[in-house]
Amino acid sequence: MRPIFPGLFLLSLSLLTNCSRQVAATALAYPGGKSKALILSYDDGVIEDIPFAHLLEDHGLVGTFNLNSGYLGVTRGWPQPGGDTVFQQYIPVDSVRSVYKNHEIAAHGTFHQDFLALTEAEIREEIGSDIANLERLAGHRIESMAYPFGRSDATVATIVGTTGLTNARTVADTHTFALPDSLFLWHPTCHDSRAPELTDAYLALPNDTLSLFYVWGHAWEFKDPARWLAIQDFCRKMGHQTTIWSVGSGAYVTYLAALHKVRRTPNRLHNPASNPPVWVRLANGQYERLAPGASRRARMGSDSQRMLKNE
Ligand SMILES: [Zn+2]
Repeated sequence: MRPIFPGLFLLSLSLLTNCSRQVAATALAYPGGKSKALILSYDDGVIEDIPFAHLLEDHGLVGTFNLNSGYLGVTRGWPQPGGDTVFQQYIPVDSVRSVYKNHEIAAHGTFHQDFLALTEAEIREEIGSDIANLERLAGHRIESMAYPFGRSDATVATIVGTTGLTNARTVADTHTFALPDSLFLWHPTCHDSRAPELTDAYLALPNDTLSLFYVWGHAWEFKDPARWLAIQDFCRKMGHQTTIWSVGSGAYVTYLAALHKVRRTPNRLHNPASNPPVWVRLANGQYERLAPGASRRARMGSDSQRMLKNE
């Protein structure tokens, strides 16, 4: 697959491994001058999304909710490996816009089929109909998806990359805070059951490099009271953090693409007029917003120069 934003990825990696050399250099930053980002991606579109969406809002957090539009409004049984059947109650169609009004609505396949078991035409139908249904319900463009069962491969990802979406998430946890190296096989940091183990490490991470904490899960798992308490605690810790940008997958990718378009020379940064505002971290540790069409003097680090050669 074509590498996505290779320069930013290299920058992230090089800064993670060589922070001391970078401290005095100018660097690209997330909105508000932040260096950390949090994506919370939740699958299926079940009624447990309602209290979970409220929990996120209470803590100033944004979720990406991946919905199976073919099941909205129904109760459906899912056979389990042990022979049991778990019943899921999906969000009513006429509640979608209000439940997710402060969050990103994303696709998850109309009927939650395993893409690795489908033909290309069937994959396109599963995604295309889900996007069309959700765009009608949401009233805006659908940019993101999570693979049903987390199942994908390079062939599926190539197909999904031509559907108009900008990104698609797997469940292949990396347990790292690295930026994505593939947006259509986007491997998250971890399932939310493992997130508490990484929370303190993320909060303690230095602010001088771009990083991403990408958590995924299902709100129906919060029917377990212990899991509900754990996610409440996680949101309390991660919410309202001045150093963390809480963002949906689609908005994150849009901003990353804007950073990628910033023109860099060893002594200057230029934000193209067609770009949205972007943020930079200055050598003195302060942050600055670079308006569309604006330039500024900047001393880019050696890794940033190397980044230019890779683009
Ligand atoms: Zn699912």
